[in-house]
Amino acid sequence: MELLYRSTRNSEVAVTASQAVLQGLAEDGGLFIPDRIPALDIKLEQLSSMSYQQTAYEVMKLFLTDFTEEELKHCIDKAYDEKFDTPAIAPLREADGAWYLELFHGATIAFKDMALSILPHLLTVSARKNHVKNEIVILTATSGDTGKAALAGFADVPGTKIIVFYPKNGVSPIQERQMVTQKGDNTFVVGIKGNFDDAQSGVKRIFGDKELKQEMDQAGYQFSSANSINIGRLVPQIVYYVYAYGKMVADGQLKAGETMNVVVPTGNFGNILAAYFAKNMGLPIEKLICASNENKVLVDFFRTGNYDKNRKFILTSSPSMDILISSNLERLVYLIAQRDSAKNAQLMAALASDGKYEISEEMKAKLTDFYGDYASEEETASEIAEVYKKTGYVLDTHTAVASRVYRKYREETGDEIKTVIASTASPYKFARSVLGAIDPKYDALSDFELVDQLSELSGTNVPRAVEELRTLPVLHDTVVETEQMKEIVKTFLKIS
Ligand SMILES: *Cc1c(COP(=O)(O)O)cnc(C)c1O
Repeated sequence: MELLYRSTRNSEVAVTASQAVLQGLAEDGGLFIPDRIPALDIKLEQLSSMSYQQTAYEVMKLFLTDFTEEELKHCIDKAYDEKFDTPAIAPLREADGAWYLELFHGATIAFKDMALSILPHLLTVSARKNHVKNEIVILTATSGDTGKAALAGFADVPGTKIIVFYPKNGVSPIQERQMVTQKGDNTFVVGIKGNFDDAQSGVKRIFGDKELKQEMDQAGYQFSSANSINIGRLVPQIVYYVYAYGKMVADGQLKAGETMNVVVPTGNFGNILAAYFAKNMGLPIEKLICASNENKVLVDFFRTGNYDKNRKFILTSSPSMDILISSNLERLVYLIAQRDSAKNAQLMAALASDGKYEISEEMKAKLTDFYGDYASEEETASEIAEVYKKTGYVLDTHTAVASRVYRKYREETGDEIKTVIASTASPYKFARSVLGAIDPKYDALSDFELVDQLSELSGTNVPRAVEELRTLPVLHDTVVETEQMKEIVKTFLKIS
């Protein structure tokens, strides 16, 4: 049955899956969301013997209903191949009574690779399907990890260009180096003088600029988004929860049908929303534990029903979660408003004008699947040190936030259900914070000395993605004010 996608701000708007992938964001600023959440149509017992690629097909075919089997399998095979350093693609690792789902084995060693290695293929198939003649220009704001993963995914993909904006002083040195050394004639990287929310708002403004859209069209270009608001990112992220469940069953940790909890270190709310979709497809998930760093706007939302971004933006050691406007939350708000797009549009208008909104008691009552808490900077550091000292396993800072929140949850509730923690980045990506948490003596070392120390201490090889940074030349050095974002886009595309 064909599944259509509607705008969260206007239910009248309905497009196919491929059109939703192409557009990224609806014209009214809303996010695309499927008409219904399809149910898994395979038995849970079967999952346990399926490869990552097979699981991906079983999940994605239910959402991308206008893709043929051949097209979808082609996209999956192109995405989940030797770019990943393990055939498991997303291995599970038990440590200290929890199961860490390692989502960082792709090209850029963060979980964004899980979706961004397939998005370019979904997008080029979608363009072909819809007879798009224009070249696709991917415009992305990044808090650090999306940018590199999108650049790696789109570099030299014919018929595409990619422009990435990142907060100049808001990403780790390794993250910045990964981006500014990006190869590919179709890639552009720009630092902006502002934080991630400034970058994201700037990109949204450019997307909404009707005049620019026309100029672009005349020049043979159209925008699309690789941000986590694109349904082509959300759908591939559902896969690894289904896969993890299958592996828990295969390993004898769960009986088919038994529930598990999921903990997700959260920023833009994309990853945890994917887990919520998995649950609504029938995957036996009990609690969705939403873990924040000190930018704990979501914790407050789950506790009080008030979303309020009017607060200080805090730079933390988990920069990919330094976010005050969690874009994907809009999809959850729409769903708990029983798909009332007018109600949702009203709340989002309040967010835009006052920086806050409050949901009704009725809506709040639909949030019982979620539990929200946060970890302070100190708690995050001590979590890394404790888990390392106890088990030898080294967590990155984002995963450590989730791990500590899980510990708090377990102490508070006594819930002993087996729990999968989304491990969203390799510790090599945040070597300074990670080693600094284990022992302050490392503070004096250079970034690459830290990488070598981490390898020794954790007994793991330095990932290729980090190794190559030692010698790659810097190819991008543009830095602009937020107000200049539109101009720089036009300069890159040679339209003015
Ligand atoms: C992007 C990112 C997150 C946050 O994921 P969302 O889908 O934005 O909630 C967490 N950890 C890492 C390492 C990330 O790159």
